[in-house]
Amino acid sequence: FNALHPMASQNQFAISYEFFPPKTPEMEAELWRSVTRLAALRPHFVSVTYGAGGTTRERTHAIVTRIVRETDMKPAAHLTCVSASRDEIDAILRDYWDAGVRHIVALRGDPPTGVGTTFEPHPQGYATSTDLVRGIRRLHDFEISVSTYPEGHPESASVERDLDALEAKIDAGATRAITQFFFDNDVYFRFLDKALARGIKIPIVPGIMPIRNFKQVAGFARKAGASVPLWLAERFDGLDDDPETRALVAATTAVEQVIGLARAGVSEFHFYTNNRADLVFAICHLLGVRPLREKALV
Ligand code: FAD
Repeated sequence: FNALHPMASQNQFAISYEFFPPKTPEMEAELWRSVTRLAALRPHFVSVTYGAGGTTRERTHAIVTRIVRETDMKPAAHLTCVSASRDEIDAILRDYWDAGVRHIVALRGDPPTGVGTTFEPHPQGYATSTDLVRGIRRLHDFEISVSTYPEGHPESASVERDLDALEAKIDAGATRAITQFFFDNDVYFRFLDKALARGIKIPIVPGIMPIRNFKQVAGFARKAGASVPLWLAERFDGLDDDPETRALVAATTAVEQVIGLARAGVSEFHFYTNNRADLVFAICHLLGVRPLREKALV
């Protein structure tokens, strides 16, 4: 592959980065180093996840509001329906609005008992992601992004049902969908074709997962219903104890994927950063996304 020419540079791509609330002070320091480094690439927005079962409510809030206070990036706060009443969720949303946050990634979430067990809504809560989107829309004029699953959500009978779910969320007020990660671009293109055939017009932004730790990502993929092609497993085979080579293979693999998407006309990318800047920074560099201070080559 050839990297895209950096003249593509500054504004051709809308890039977003996803972070998660860290558990330890060391991980927290790593997060802010990564946020600062990636801020130089002037992302369209940066999102912060909401821990499974609503466990990171305060930490998600603290990170999102610090991004508002200390950076010029626009944060998007993830929010789920899990283990909270509508009043509690509405209070969180009001806090965000008052803190200057204008973008929510609205999700149903997984049961506190874990992925694969049946989701039971809180008795006074939002029952589905569509309900949550409607509730947010009623409260304030937030920008609302939602998830979508090109290979089907594990609970969904078929990809068509996922598209039904996406349409319901759009009808309720969602204006952007971010995909679960995938490794075969054709999976995404087929999903886009089906969405377009239904008249879905909102951006369906590919979620890109650079593979820092293959075993871990393969584990996530199994739970998330994302397939791991054999060729991908073969690329990482034998590298379990070789983090340097793994990082090079990970960057190459993700760059191939992203450049393949870009050449097909995709102009928005959402990166699952794992709170680390290095791989994602390199991938964006090859995509032609550079810090402002660097002059584009002509
Ligand atoms: P929904 O839109 O609610 O549903 C997804 C699919 O499941 C649809 O096809 C729907 O039809 C089907 N479905 C849902 N319920 C049923 C049912 N009872 N029977 C049959 N089919 C059903 N989780 C977190 O906890 N915190 C986060 O910050 C977070 N961020 C995420 C960000 C992205 C971009 C993505 C892709 C996922 C994220 N998740 C997060 C994971 C998500 O919460 C889970 O995948 C959850 O299981 C589904 O919630 P949803 O809003 O993604 O899906």
